[in-house]
Amino acid sequence: MKGGRNISIKNKLVIIQLFTSLIVLGLFVTAFLILDIRGYKRRRIETLQGLAEVIGTNAASTLQFQDNEAARLILKNLIQVSPRIASAVIYDRNGKTFASYQRTDRVHVPIPKNVSTSGALTVNKHLFVYRNIMGPDGVVGSIVVESELIDLYSLNREKYIVTAILVCFAILLSLIIAWIIQSFISRRLVNLSNTMQTATETGDYNTMINDEGKDEIGILSQSFNRLMAQVRENQRRKDEFIAVASHELKTPLTSIKGYIEFFKLLTTNDQNKTVINKALANVEKLERLIKDLLDVSKIQSGQLELTLEEFDICELITETIGSWELLSPHHRIRFNGIKGKCLIRADKNRIEQVFMNLISNAIKYSPGESEVIVTISNSAKETVITVRDFGIGIPEGEEEAIFERFYRTANVTEHISGFGLGLYICKNIVGKHGGRIWVHKESKGCTFHVAFPLVTDSSPIKNKLSSKYN
Ligand code: ADP
Repeated sequence: MKGGRNISIKNKLVIIQLFTSLIVLGLFVTAFLILDIRGYKRRRIETLQGLAEVIGTNAASTLQFQDNEAARLILKNLIQVSPRIASAVIYDRNGKTFASYQRTDRVHVPIPKNVSTSGALTVNKHLFVYRNIMGPDGVVGSIVVESELIDLYSLNREKYIVTAILVCFAILLSLIIAWIIQSFISRRLVNLSNTMQTATETGDYNTMINDEGKDEIGILSQSFNRLMAQVRENQRRKDEFIAVASHELKTPLTSIKGYIEFFKLLTTNDQNKTVINKALANVEKLERLIKDLLDVSKIQSGQLELTLEEFDICELITETIGSWELLSPHHRIRFNGIKGKCLIRADKNRIEQVFMNLISNAIKYSPGESEVIVTISNSAKETVITVRDFGIGIPEGEEEAIFERFYRTANVTEHISGFGLGLYICKNIVGKHGGRIWVHKESKGCTFHVAFPLVTDSSPIKNKLSSKYN
C-alpha cells in the first residue's frame, strides 16, 4: 500500500476508475453468460422432453406387443428428422434395452443407466433426457434421448470472443473517460502542488492560487494563499525591523568608534593600546554587520543603486589583493591576470565589495592553508574572474543555497563566525550588473566564478540603476 503513495493522483484516479469498470463489467458479463447457458440448456431439455413424450406415446404399443423392430424404426425416424439427437434407447419395464438407435457419427459416451423417473443429466457435453413410457395399466418402460451439446459450447466460444472484444472496447472507453475526468480533479491539485513546490524552491512567497472552489481542494488553495500572506507579512516585519535597527545602530556606533580612536590617539601606554585595539576591532566587526544589514534592506526594498563607470577590472582586483596582503600578510594571494586592460562598465565600489568578500571568505574558510588564486579571463561575451581556495569547501548539494540570505553551511556554523549575508549581497550586486556568480566544488576547497558582460555599445546596463530587484 505504501508504494501507492508514489503514484501520482492523476494515475490513481485512472486506476480506480479502471478497476471499478473492470469489476462491474466482470460481474455483468459473468451473470449474463451463466443465465444464457442455463436458459439454453433449459430450452434444450424442454424440447427433448417433448420429443421423448411423443416417442414414448408411439412406442407404448410396441412394448406391449414386444415389437422391437417397430420400436427401432420409430427411433430411427426420429433421429433422422431431428439431427440434434445423437441416440435414443427404449427400456422395458425391467430396465432391459428393448430397442435403440444412434447416429453413425455419434461420439461414444456410455449412456448413464437411469432410472424410472423423468429427468435430465449432462455427461461430457452430452445431454440425456429420461421419460417413463405409460401404457393403459401404468408404466411399461422408459426412454432416454441423447443430444450432443457441442453446438452449445461452440456457440459459447463465439459468445466468449464477442464478449472479450466488447470488454476490451469497454475498458478502452473507460480508460479514455477516466483520463478526461481525472484532469478535472487532478489539474487543480497538480497546480496547487506545483505552486507550493515553486514557492519553497524559489522563496518567492508572492505566489497565489486562483481557486474559488468550495470543495476540499478549494479550501486547501485558500489556506495556502492565507499562509503565503502571513509569511509575506512576517517577512515584511522582519525586513522593517532589520532596516530600522541597523539605521538606529549606525549613528551611536560611529560615535563610539570616534571616541575609541580619540582615546587611541591620547594613550601612550602599550597595555591600554592593546585593549583599545581590541575594542576597535570589535566595533569594526559590528560596523561591517550593520553595513551588510543596510545593504540587505536596500536590496529588499529595491533601493540598491549603482553608479556605473567604465574601469579596468584587472587594476581593481590588483588593488583589492594589495589590501588583503596588508590585512592578512600570512596569505599568499596569486593573481593570474591578462595582458592589457580589461574594461567593464560597473559600479566600482560595489564590485570591490564583491571581491573583498570573496577573498575574505577564501581566507576565512581555509584554516591552515595560505594560498588563494585569483584569475581573470575573457570569453566571447564575458569577463570571468575566479577566486580559488584550498580550504574546507562547500558540502555537496549546498552550492546554490549559500547565496541565500542568512544561509551558512553546516560545516562552518559552529567554529567560523559569520552572518550568511556576504554572498547574498554579492549575488545581488553581480545580478544587477547583468552578470552571474556561481561556485564549483574542487577536490580540496572551491572556486567562485563571477562573470560580467563585456562592454559593448548595446550593454543593457544604464547609468544609475535603481529598479527593484527580482
Ligand atoms: P558568512 O561568511 O558571513 O557566513 P557568506 O554569505 O559570505 O557569509 O557565506 C555564506 C556561507 O557560504 C558561509 O557561511 C560558508 O558556509 C559558505 N562559504 C562561503 N565561502 C566559502 C568558501 N570559500 N569556502 C567554504 N565555504 C564558503
